[in-house]
Amino acid sequence: MAAASEKTRPTVASLGCLSQGSVDVAPNPWLAAAGQRAGVPLDDRQRSRFELYRQTLIDWNRRTNLTAVTEPDEIDRRLILDALLAVPTLDRLLSSHAASTPKLVDIGSGAGFPGLVIKIARPHLDVTLIEATGKKVRFLSHLIAALGLDGVVAQHARAEDLGHHAEHRGVYDIVTARAVASLPALIELAVPFLRIGGHGLFPKGRDLAVELAAGERAASMLGARVLGADLVPETETRLVQIAKIDSTPARYPRRAGIPAREPLGVAKHPQPPLVPSGSTGGR
Ligand code: SAM
Repeated sequence: MAAASEKTRPTVASLGCLSQGSVDVAPNPWLAAAGQRAGVPLDDRQRSRFELYRQTLIDWNRRTNLTAVTEPDEIDRRLILDALLAVPTLDRLLSSHAASTPKLVDIGSGAGFPGLVIKIARPHLDVTLIEATGKKVRFLSHLIAALGLDGVVAQHARAEDLGHHAEHRGVYDIVTARAVASLPALIELAVPFLRIGGHGLFPKGRDLAVELAAGERAASMLGARVLGADLVPETETRLVQIAKIDSTPARYPRRAGIPAREPLGVAKHPQPPLVPSGSTGGR
């Protein structure tokens, strides 16, 4: 993407869309066009927010290692657009929900993917970002304030712990997670957060057969079922969808680290460890 010259590059303030932030923002027609093609048209305010997001991520990433994806074009394509591609499916799932302010929790958000991107695209959602690493939570909290967003918080916690808190257990309409764990481990972390009738949405790699079979077994132990894992058109991403159909036994999720080390639905011996599908590093 061509960078705008210093003279023509607008600031967030000059775009008149956001109240905070002094970071320069370059116009980004590519992302808007790609969003449009994916069925997620972006208005001026959303485009401005994504500009500020990208610039802030690049700026912070120089000092703190938040993501291995550092090139502006790659941030747009591999992080922001990849998260936007889940939005049409999310919209479809939400159409079966009655809540006027649906609650979404994103597990292992890292630098905000996909949860914060979804919040910008669908600001009516009430979003909780759960992240285990303190510096990433500090980045998220800074960015949320800079973007002027209401109804989104970053929680410094492990999903294994928060999933047992009354404030969080069984109350969410949607759970998302990307590049956090293998599917059965992810399902154990995610399902306890959902109310019965809620849905999970997990972007995964194309080659998912083994993980998917274990994920289906794990889901049945947790009160959920896998609805599908369709390929997103023109990508290598499968979007795993699950539905919560029954209550989750109180012992799940197990203690921190156990869901990933001993995933449900996977025979203990003599199987090799289950490697999550798709890229995990730098996402
Ligand atoms: N989802 C982001 C993305 O797609 O760019 C970040 C992916 S990064 C590879 C995985 C993130 O999940 C890390 O930031 C890590 O700290 C976080 N994480 C891993 N296990 C977690 C857990 N049990 N609870 C909360 N966060 C977790």
